[in-house]
Amino acid sequence: MPEREPVSVRRRGRVYLVGAGPGDPGLLTVRARELIARADVILHDRLIPPGVLDGARPAAELIFVGKEGGGESTPQAETERLLVEHAGAGRSVVRLKGGDPFVFGRGGEEAGALREAGIPFEVVPGVTAGVAAPAYAGIPVTHRGLTSAVALITGHEDPEKEDTAIDWEALAAFPGTLVFYMGVRRLARIAQELIAAGRPGSEAAAVVERGTLPGQRAVIATLETIAQEAEREGIGAPAITLVGAVARLGNELAWLRAGPLAGRTVAVTRARAQTSALAERLGELGASVVQAPAIRIRALEGPPLDPSGYDLICVTSANGVEALFERLAAGGRDARALAGARVAAIGPGTARALAAHGIVADVVPERYVAEGLVEALADVPVRHALLARARGAREVLARALRERGAQVDELELYESVPERLPGEVWRAAWGADYITFTSSSTVRNFLEAAGDGALEEGARVVSIGPVTSGTLREHGLEPHLEAARHDIDGLLETLLADATARSSGAAPRS
Ligand code: SAH
Repeated sequence: MPEREPVSVRRRGRVYLVGAGPGDPGLLTVRARELIARADVILHDRLIPPGVLDGARPAAELIFVGKEGGGESTPQAETERLLVEHAGAGRSVVRLKGGDPFVFGRGGEEAGALREAGIPFEVVPGVTAGVAAPAYAGIPVTHRGLTSAVALITGHEDPEKEDTAIDWEALAAFPGTLVFYMGVRRLARIAQELIAAGRPGSEAAAVVERGTLPGQRAVIATLETIAQEAEREGIGAPAITLVGAVARLGNELAWLRAGPLAGRTVAVTRARAQTSALAERLGELGASVVQAPAIRIRALEGPPLDPSGYDLICVTSANGVEALFERLAAGGRDARALAGARVAAIGPGTARALAAHGIVADVVPERYVAEGLVEALADVPVRHALLARARGAREVLARALRERGAQVDELELYESVPERLPGEVWRAAWGADYITFTSSSTVRNFLEAAGDGALEEGARVVSIGPVTSGTLREHGLEPHLEAARHDIDGLLETLLADATARSSGAAPRS
């Protein structure tokens, strides 16, 4: 009989008021990530970084309580009721908000409601947009010799309404940087009011749209001209407006996306677990990256693997390597179990994954496709081969080895399953300058998420190699570019060459 826990140590429900940062998933705090991973229930807004909820437990209940499009938001009282109800039932509840929960996030009101209901809570501060968006535009909100004070300001979003809450005279007299958390539709009004109240029209001002997110844009001008400039650039929400001498520093200190792909947006469709390496490389080259993972890798269940008896083991992806070692570990084995066999990797990425497990691949072909591996194995004697692969992979390699008289066991270690892509992510990916496809399964799943007629015009399509290109064509999409070398480096090189040729006005290769 299990003993009953003493009541005093039983975990009680608790609410965490958590800041999710301004948008760049890298600006989520370690504490926020931990709590998201543990939560039973997550109540979240719209302005949270893409992908942060992927870290939630599959069983966690995700409740959207923000404003959808221009529509009605969940009433604050309803949000507070939900917090109290779920925590009251003993659950661990994360209330996830954009930026910092206590900076124009109504976190204080929620804390008050929880206190009243006797529910324990914690506050996890976040990186606030008013500081982060300027920082990502190279604008420090304080700067020695320029300003030693900052005011964070908000008002009504509705341009029809009077900003009764804002004391323009006091703000105009404020000796420092003014940071407005307000829609751009308010911009002309903000500038007008400040100038009318005595702030010089020649003072520097900046607007940062989608700060820290892909496609971030900044406009730097003067208080007098900022509204007009922002309108000319078509600046939209969300945006931070900053007034103060520091705004001008953005002209010198802008650091984001300096590089050969500066100003280009590139969508990455591979599985979330793999996007980050590619996204990081693209970011270093200066591109804004839209992460639109169309698939997810799921390991398949199976018995522990005993590889003794094979003289050749072929691995056709880095995912396959991970899954292979999990199957070995399940039987208490490690890299030493592969000692008796030759190990072939389909390309350098797979070889690197093997190397991380202490295995130097014996065979890596020059062309990173199954046909290349068949060629590379032409002179390698094979009796009994193990093919570690994905469910639904092509049969080329197995067939070729069997034709040579080898006995071939195919071990399905993982599969790619479609990842749900919200419409806005899909549209952002298709609206990028480039969209990259690194496998046939990402092509299929990405295009299936599209529905009909959505493909009229969009990004330049970049394929990693002939097999992926074939799948694109099957779906009626002619790739604009195909990597000369069929791996991530090859894809980046091809994309970069195209971007460079296009920006120097040379005829694009298509
Ligand atoms: N609690 C949030 C602010 C919520 S108010 C925080 O601490 O950041 C919402 C306003 O924040 C938006 O209207 C916009 O002015 C600003 N904002 C939020 N995210 C932004 C971003 N990524 N870039 C620019 N402004 C942003």
